[in-house]
Amino acid sequence: MILLLFALVSSVAASEEKSSISGDQALQMLMDGNARFASGNATHPNQSEERLTDLVSGQHPFAVVVGCSDSRIPPEIIFDQGLGDIFVIRTAGEVMDNVTIASIEYAVEHLNVPLVLVLGHDGCGAVTAAVKGGEVPGHLNSLVGFIQPAVEEAKKAGNEDNLLENSIECNVDNVVEEIRTSEPILSEAVEKGNLTIVGACYHLDSGLVEISE
Ligand SMILES: [Zn+2]
Repeated sequence: MILLLFALVSSVAASEEKSSISGDQALQMLMDGNARFASGNATHPNQSEERLTDLVSGQHPFAVVVGCSDSRIPPEIIFDQGLGDIFVIRTAGEVMDNVTIASIEYAVEHLNVPLVLVLGHDGCGAVTAAVKGGEVPGHLNSLVGFIQPAVEEAKKAGNEDNLLENSIECNVDNVVEEIRTSEPILSEAVEKGNLTIVGACYHLDSGLVEISE
């Protein structure tokens, strides 16, 4: 029993292995893929039978993408990636809770992924609901609650004309910050220089991803 427990603990213990590529290189790979997609030159890599076979023994994704569940923004397609390339977490409004943070921890700690990209997008329905405020049905209330601080920040910053756009940006910033400061695993990975976290916005009209300043 003790041995079994030890084996279990060992298998989930922290991995000290560092990714063979840097966060910056991983970001470049995503942006190169997005440029191919947006220009109509997608190559649809890593979707062969051979790739399928190669991945049976394990996965080595080079990036985590935290995005919105919006059907128009599937990360594998807009970044022109294939099987085993990116570790994707999607919720409406790309909001994070303990379970989604745990998914990122798994990717960073066990798969040694060097980059987390948080992707907001134009016209996000979840952020729109938070901007509108008022009563929402069912569990939507808790979803909107996650986004509400971003709307308040955008309001404080002024410029009511672009409230939705600014709220979308603030929401991405807040999610980046939440991931960056999540203790102990993610914050330590950032401190050790093993993890880069960036925010970005996807533009529905151009298909282009713009990295946040
Ligand atoms: Zn959305």
